Formats: sequence, structure tokens, C-alpha cells
Amino acid sequence: MPVPTLPSSGLPEPLIHEIRAKATSLTEALHELQLALHGRPEIAWKEHFAHDQLTAYMERQAGWSVERHACELPTAWKAVYEVGQGGPIIGFNSEMDALRGIGHACGHNQIAIAGIAAALATAHVLEKHDFPGKVVLLGTPAEEAGGGKAYMLKRGAYDGMEACLMLHPGWKGNGVGFATLACSVAFSVKYTGASAHAGGMPEKGINALDAAVAAYTNIALLRQQVPSSHKVFNTIKGSEGWTANVIASDSTFVVGMRTPTAQEAISLTERVLNCLRAAALATGCQFEIRRESMYMDLRNATELENYFEDVCKSHWDGECTVDRLASTAASDFGNIGYAMPVLHPMYGLPDAREGDSPHSNTFAESTGLRSSTDATIRAAAMLAVVGTRLIVDRPWAEKVRAAWAEQYAVFGGQDTVDKVEKIVSAYPLAPEVSSDMCSCGH
Ligand SMILES: [Zn+2]
Ligand SMILES: [Zn+2]
Repeated sequence: MPVPTLPSSGLPEPLIHEIRAKATSLTEALHELQLALHGRPEIAWKEHFAHDQLTAYMERQAGWSVERHACELPTAWKAVYEVGQGGPIIGFNSEMDALRGIGHACGHNQIAIAGIAAALATAHVLEKHDFPGKVVLLGTPAEEAGGGKAYMLKRGAYDGMEACLMLHPGWKGNGVGFATLACSVAFSVKYTGASAHAGGMPEKGINALDAAVAAYTNIALLRQQVPSSHKVFNTIKGSEGWTANVIASDSTFVVGMRTPTAQEAISLTERVLNCLRAAALATGCQFEIRRESMYMDLRNATELENYFEDVCKSHWDGECTVDRLASTAASDFGNIGYAMPVLHPMYGLPDAREGDSPHSNTFAESTGLRSSTDATIRAAAMLAVVGTRLIVDRPWAEKVRAAWAEQYAVFGGQDTVDKVEKIVSAYPLAPEVSSDMCSCGH
């Protein structure tokens, strides 16, 4: 069937109502699904139960083809629905991981069902009206640490997408918000010295703890000379192997950086790495720098953000507040945003505690509530409206992409990605990260 002529303001009302009706019809089942994840939180790269629950659910949906353990990552997955052949591809993401010790305090259990609801609602209207197009839903592991999406991007999971859309729950409220997120880079360095009797012959030792302390101090001094928008934070590991009367022969220093843009991270990274190198030189230790993670800064594609806002304002039940802010939080979805237009709205949970936000230890109490599921489904329907429009309104999809290219050109676009890649890939992946990714028994 030919794609209908659309009003310039977006999808026709009847289509929006069909999308909403489909999403709402999934509420009971998806509430149960998120509750299962909520009751069994799993940290980054260990989302095996979530992987199995979510893929099993998608395998029960007619017409979907599901790939478990996608991209050679044990807990990643991919579900695809296609109408016709060769139509545009729209992507959605379902995150899954929890936080160590405080469960689903980032609400990724809700993000998991948000992706499913948006993908199923989009596929439903494509099928019903015979609009050619493909819906790709990715189960993306390790957002909180490691950056699963970055690996899935490199391994082709996002290839050909028109745009990629996902949601994130936020504060107590009834509405949506748009946040610009920071670029986040993390490295570790292992210092290796030589042990010796600290009282008897310290001159024989090469002090790896001193190297870590020197690195800590170097960075403390550096902080005064960087813009206030740049954050550098660090810790020293290895104390379980130390004792006062033995010169420490091993230490590990972990450092993370946040900058508003990846361009700013490029120069800051070199300065921070010099702090680490100088500490080795000063103490005589051997050192090995390893990369931990690299999340690009995240910006919603302006056209997608504006349309999502319009849809929410006109179709929310009750008043829909709209907030905009810049945050020093970060997400691996930022890496996707440099590859294609992305949309990552946040939305309120009506019964969250006043003042709570993701990563506060009481936020997990709210992310499993039925009212939170209702908020997720409502926001997911709005996201599906944006996704469907990208498939059926081709002139608008072209406008979205052109505006995105212009928006990201300001931040260096692909050139910035290439420069960051060059810096980061010069260092091996930290062994803790690579073993987390791969030694899962799947
Ligand atoms: Zn989080
Ligand atoms: Zn999160």
C-alpha cells in the first residue's frame, strides 16, 4: 500500500490512537516482565536472566525473528520485524543492567519494557497498514559499566538504522525531560615496582603505592587548571595486598573524566594520562595504561526531540511537564548519537519519592511500581509515534537526518569519533572488562 500523504505536523490522529491502543494493551504482560527483572537485578554484562526473559517474550510475538547472544556478547540480543522489503529501518533499545548493591535504581527494568512496547506498537501499525519498513529492537547490556552499545555499534547491530530511540525514567513527576549528557572516559593504570623490607632496606624497593599516590596528587593539582565543567575522579586499588612493613610492589589507579563534549575530552585525556606517566617516572615503576570505557556526549536530534515534545503535549493524559537540562551523567547511547539521529527522552515516575533520582538508593523502590509501568507505556507509545513517522514520512526523515548532521558538525561529528578512537584504542582493554564481557559460560 502506498504511504499516505501526511499532514506536515506529523502522523494523522487515527494512527497515533492505534499506536497508543497497541502499547496500552501490552501493559499487564510488560508489568509482569519488568517486575521479574526488578526482583532479580543483574549488574553489567551479567544480565543473563533478563536476556532470557526478554528474548523469550519477543519469541512469543508473531512475526518477530529473535537472535539471542547477539554480536558475540552473551547478554545482548536483537529482535527484528519486517514489513515488505527494503523499507526504512527504525531502531529501539532495551537496557537491562542494574547497579551493584542498590538494584534497579536506574530503572533499566522499565527501559527494557519501554523498548519492547515501542517496537511492538510500531510494528503493529506498519503491519496493519502495510507500510514497508523494518523495526529493530536491540537488547543492550552493560550501560552502567563497560558500554555494551559501543560494542554492538562496532559489530554492526545499528547498521542501516534511520534513527535509534530509547527512554529513561527520571524524577518524581508526570511528564518528560530532555537532558544533554556528558562525555565519559575511564582508564586504569597498573603500576609495578619491587617489594622490600620497608624498615630494613627500603632503598631496595620500588614503591607502587607511591606511584598511585603521586598520580592521585598530580590529578588533584591538574583539577585547578581545567575548566570547572570538566570532572576528574579517581581511586586507588590494591590495598588488600599491602602491609606497612613491606614496600608495595603493585597498585592500580582508576581514573574517570567527564566533559561536556568529546572534543574537550581529547585534550583532557592527554593531560590526565601524563599525570599517570609522570607518577611512574618519579617512582621508577613500570606501568601499563588500560582503557575501561568511552561514552560520547549525548544529544537528542533536535527534530526528533521537538516532535516527541509536540506528541506528548497533545496526547498525554493530564498535564505533561517538559524539562530541559544539561547533566554530567553519561550513557553509551551517546556513541550511537554520533552515528545517527537519536532520541533519549526521560520521563517522570508519578509515585517516586520527592527528591529521588536515578542512582539514589531509594529510587529502586519506585521503578517496580505499577504506576511506573503505566508511565513507561505511555512514554513508549509517544516514542513509537516518532519511530513510525520516521518510517512513513520520508521527507521528514530526510529533514531529521540533515538537521542532525548540522547539529553534530558543531561538535566535530565523525572526525571527533575518529580522534577519540585513536586515543582510546592505543591502550588495551582492561582485563576485568574483557573477562566480564566474555567469561559468562554462554
Ligand atoms: Zn544509571
Ligand atoms: Zn540508566
